[in-house]
Amino acid sequence: MADFDPIVVRKADGCWLTTTDGRRLFDGVSSLWCNVHGHRHPKIDAAIRDQLDRVAHVTTLGMSAETTEILATRLAEVTPGDLAHTFFSSDGASAVEAALKMAFQYWRQTPMPQPEKTQFLALGGAYHGDTTGAVSLGGIEYFHQLFAPILFSPIRGPVPCTYRVPEEVDPLEFYLSQFRELLHDHHHQLAAVVMEPLVQGAAGMITHPVGLLSAVRELCDEFNVLMVVDEVATGFGRTGRLFACEHESVTPDILCLGKGLTGGYLPMAATIARPHVFDAFLAPATDSKQFFHGHTFSGNPLAAAAAIASIELFDETDLVASVDQKANHLRKRLSGLLNHPNVGDIRGRGLMVGIEIVADRETKTPFDSNRQIGRNVCRAAVDRGVWVRPLTDVIVAMPPLVATMEELDILASAVIESIEQVLDQQP
Ligand SMILES: *Cc1c(COP(=O)(O)O)cnc(C)c1O
Repeated sequence: MADFDPIVVRKADGCWLTTTDGRRLFDGVSSLWCNVHGHRHPKIDAAIRDQLDRVAHVTTLGMSAETTEILATRLAEVTPGDLAHTFFSSDGASAVEAALKMAFQYWRQTPMPQPEKTQFLALGGAYHGDTTGAVSLGGIEYFHQLFAPILFSPIRGPVPCTYRVPEEVDPLEFYLSQFRELLHDHHHQLAAVVMEPLVQGAAGMITHPVGLLSAVRELCDEFNVLMVVDEVATGFGRTGRLFACEHESVTPDILCLGKGLTGGYLPMAATIARPHVFDAFLAPATDSKQFFHGHTFSGNPLAAAAAIASIELFDETDLVASVDQKANHLRKRLSGLLNHPNVGDIRGRGLMVGIEIVADRETKTPFDSNRQIGRNVCRAAVDRGVWVRPLTDVIVAMPPLVATMEELDILASAVIESIEQVLDQQP
């Protein structure tokens, strides 16, 4: 942090943050991709206050809270297909850890056990959080490579990127044939395929070819491998549907949710299983088939109250339906950047947008990382009143879903001007 400019927030309102030194900043990355309805939304605030008058926390180990039960029922209703049984935790990484252990234990306890299924297939560029199991799945060298000596090794799939793909191939076919080969070769050992759907956020808004998710679902069925989908970033409206899986009519066997679950208010995550997974764990206590996993703050009622209020807001408004229109508006405003010699790609789905800066557009070569282009662009945006945070040289635009068209214009202008300013200074 030796060259760090601290920004300390005193309060916030809607999509705007007020810092202790009196600046007002537009929250251009939804407080790290989780804020949905804006800050200090009256309905979510009231739900938390109301819950506080009843109980702040009880355990879900051996008992439960009424509000948490209501949330579990609501999640079963709003998630795709027959996803129905929720294990609660406090952050996205923990939701993924639970999914890994659940998938592993499932193959030991299903009516036709296959205990040799102990491995996972993860994508190139995968990001599933920063705990050790989640980092083992991770495929971002810069974040993950250092820890290799303490990690397990997944079977590594391709980075299904539509920007860096050989020119003469059909991207979907190209990546799918690699997935097919890996599943063909390894399905006997594979407990699950774990993937982020449509967009791999932390990898730099890597955007998949349309149809990949549903095709991987078919491969998982064909080769009898569980499918774990990590919607920690894409869930709750971000891509223009409540869940990204809905774009391709996919129901994973296990779904991981986090970030936007509470509207971005409180730490809560969920690992949601379909009945065939749940049933493998359902037995009298003496059979010891229960899921051997628990967290002190699982299902915290204050967080559950926020989550219920957030889901009700989706029911009461056309927020999800508005995302496509807002995304088109933002894309249109940013599209002029495609003429800039250092803007290689603008990608993403819905209000999950990445702008990749490159040294050479023809060869798609990045700048030397010591130049800190992404970071400098984001600093310039802060000077213009917009808080954004880069992923190396990919500028992320990921505003709260409630952002207005005018606010999206402010975000776009700041990003465009900052890119021009920083790159004009480059030799
Ligand atoms: C942020 C993120 C996680 C990790 O969530 P935390 O709450 O930070 O632990 C996992 N998966 C994806 C896809 C994410 O974007």
